[in-house]
Amino acid sequence: MWYALLMPAVHVYTRHRKTCSRKSDRAWKSCPCPKWLLWHYHGKMFRQSASTRDWNVAAKMARNVEQDYERHQTREPKAALDNGPTLEGAVIST
Ligand SMILES: [Zn+2]
Repeated sequence: MWYALLMPAVHVYTRHRKTCSRKSDRAWKSCPCPKWLLWHYHGKMFRQSASTRDWNVAAKMARNVEQDYERHQTREPKAALDNGPTLEGAVIST
């Protein structure tokens, strides 16, 4: 299950407005400020607006992003095998 190691953990954080009384706390869930997603993948940082002010909706989106990566990565090793045995391998085995 090597691909599981490559799956990013997607975090939700809050981009507070300047007027928000909780603006110093990015992990605060209950204010009406936009929620964003944040994750790291292959050494890069990704940020994406969750297009919602609801933490729970954003958390669901985060799981979706994780699942997209999971699907992508479980498909890829198989595809690589399907394209499979190289000429080199055939030559060596004969
Ligand atoms: Zn806020």
